[in-house]
Amino acid sequence: MQKIIKAPAKINLTLDVVRKREDGYHDVEMVMTTVDLADRIQLTTIDSDRISIDVSHGFVPNNENNLAYQAANVLKSRLGINKGISIVIDKQIPVSAGLAGGSTDAAAVLRGLNEMWGLGLSMSELAEIGLEIGSDVPFCVHGGTALATGRGEKLEFLPPPPPCWVILVKPPIGVSTRDIYQRLKVNQLIHPDTNGMIKAIEEQNFEDICSKLENVMEKATFELHPSVKNIKKRITQYGADGVVMSGSGPTIFALTQNDYRAHRLYNSLKGFMEQVYVVRLLGTKHE
Ligand code: ATP
Repeated sequence: MQKIIKAPAKINLTLDVVRKREDGYHDVEMVMTTVDLADRIQLTTIDSDRISIDVSHGFVPNNENNLAYQAANVLKSRLGINKGISIVIDKQIPVSAGLAGGSTDAAAVLRGLNEMWGLGLSMSELAEIGLEIGSDVPFCVHGGTALATGRGEKLEFLPPPPPCWVILVKPPIGVSTRDIYQRLKVNQLIHPDTNGMIKAIEEQNFEDICSKLENVMEKATFELHPSVKNIKKRITQYGADGVVMSGSGPTIFALTQNDYRAHRLYNSLKGFMEQVYVVRLLGTKHE
């Protein structure tokens, strides 16, 4: 049996860090949505009781450290399944980019195996299992648009934002989320207007969504990599309606509803950056 699943990237419309917890994690508050930039994952049943993984990307582990492998492994051990699976990942989402590439692969494997192995688990049960792999996995299991709190696992779903173009630029550096958390001065942050963003989405007010894009991690990432700040400045100058960094970066994305502006942004950015993508928002949940 074989199945091909799409694993879409996420972007943060807002990202706030509320406090550092005693268990070492941070409490966050973020509005996230999915975009049509996706890895393709091929799952094939194999006869022996093992997990094989195959990824064609230099910076992604081709072994048990791959989050997709871990997803299959957690599912097998939690439910006591003695079946094997081959996972082949066609990596399209930039790596260490703030787009939850690894988490979405793990989530897609959970959804795919739930069907292939006829486990009958609900999305919420899969999300709970996914939290063992990473804080962003529960959101990626459901997809759509949501306010995520706690470590990122408490989800309140929102309607999809109005349709628009998303222009993503991935500078040629990787950012470790851990490094950025270490540099973050949690008591000195200027917090995004999260409620304002939620209201703008509920009212389908694109202009307000653009004006409320904000990410408290920008400062720390920009200090570490000034070139990323420069890219944000240039995208703003090229006429995007709203621009912000996703996750801990370094990907910067711009939103616009105007076709001409989307093409102009793409062409201008392609002149000096290699990894530029123009995609649509997805924003609706996986069923
Ligand atoms: P987030 O937005 O959740 O912080 P990210 O987009 O910044 O994530 P990822 O692309 O998920 O970062 O990669 C983070 C690390 O995870 C990298 O060091 C990468 O090698 C490792 N990794 C493990 N499995 C995968 C996978 N399936 N795809 C991408 N990276 C993976």
